[in-house]
Amino acid sequence: MKYIIFCITIIFSTTLAFSQDDSLSNSIKIKLPTTNLNKGVIIEEIEIPIISKQDSIIIPIIDIKSEYWDTTVYNPYKNTITEYPIEINFKDSIYASPVAHKKVITSRYGWRRGRPHKGIDIDLVTGDSVVSVLSGIVRFARYSRGHGKTIVVRHYNGLETTYAHLSDIAVKANDSINAGQYIGKGGNTGNSRGSHLHLVASYNGEYIHPDYLFKFDSSNAIRSQNIWVTRKWTRPIHHSSKSLAKVNFFETKEAALASLVKKLKVYVVKSGDTLSHISRRNNTTIYSICRTNKIKKTSTLKIGQELVLEL
Ligand SMILES: [Zn+2]
Repeated sequence: MKYIIFCITIIFSTTLAFSQDDSLSNSIKIKLPTTNLNKGVIIEEIEIPIISKQDSIIIPIIDIKSEYWDTTVYNPYKNTITEYPIEINFKDSIYASPVAHKKVITSRYGWRRGRPHKGIDIDLVTGDSVVSVLSGIVRFARYSRGHGKTIVVRHYNGLETTYAHLSDIAVKANDSINAGQYIGKGGNTGNSRGSHLHLVASYNGEYIHPDYLFKFDSSNAIRSQNIWVTRKWTRPIHHSSKSLAKVNFFETKEAALASLVKKLKVYVVKSGDTLSHISRRNNTTIYSICRTNKIKKTSTLKIGQELVLEL
C-alpha cells in the first residue's frame, strides 16, 4: 500500500509540474480507486501527459533558401563580405563519394598554369554516375560558361558543392536531394581537357580548398564536425594544383586565429636550390617567397643568399 501511495504521489507531483504548461494537450486521464487509499490526499482522477520522443528532440529548421537563392546565376553571393575565419559545421562524419569508383585526383585546388583552379578534378569516364556528396537542395542546374553542364547543391550547413563538366543533368533547381543521390552523368562539357568531374566547395561565394574539408581517399571522411576556415584556404594562390601540402585544419576559432600570427624563418640558399624545391620542402609557395622577399619567380638565387620564409 505504501508503495502505491508513493507512486501516486510521484505521478501527482509530475502532473502538477506539467499542469503549469498551458500547451499540454496530449494526455491520458486515469480514474483512481480512491476508496482504497489511506487517509490524506484524495485524488479521484489524475492526468498523465504523453510526451512523444519527437517533441523532446530539438530539430533546428534552417531555411537555406532564405538568402541569395538565385537559380539562374552560378555565384549569387557577389559583393557580399565574408568574415574570417568561416565556421562550417557538419552533421555527419563521412560524405558520399561523388563517383562510384576509386577517386583519382588529376588536379587539385590551387594555382595552375597562371590561373586559379578553384576546385578538385576527379577522373571519370563520360556517362559515369555522379552523386551529391551531402544532402541539400539543388540551387543551380544548367549550362554555365566554362563549367559546362553544372549543378550546384546548397547543403543545410550553408556549404555549396558544384559538379561541373557534366554530360547530363538529372535534377532541376529547387529539388531536395539526399547524400549519395544520383544527380547527373560525368562528362567533358565547357572548358575541359578530357572527361572529369570538377568538384567545388564554397561558402558565401568563397571557394574553399576541398581537401581542407574532405579526405579524397577511400575513407570518404569529413575532416571534422566543426571546421574553421582561414582566408588561406579560400585563395588558390597559396596552394599548388599539383600536390597537396599537409592539411592542418582548425577545430576552434582560437586555433584558427592563432594560425594567422605569421611565423618567419630565415633560409640560406644552398647549391642546387630552386624556388620550387625551397617552397615544397618548407610547406610554403613560390608566390609567398617572392612576395616576402620582393623577388621575381624568375630571379636567380645565389648560394648563401638569405630568404625570409613565411610559414
Ligand atoms: Zn577543375
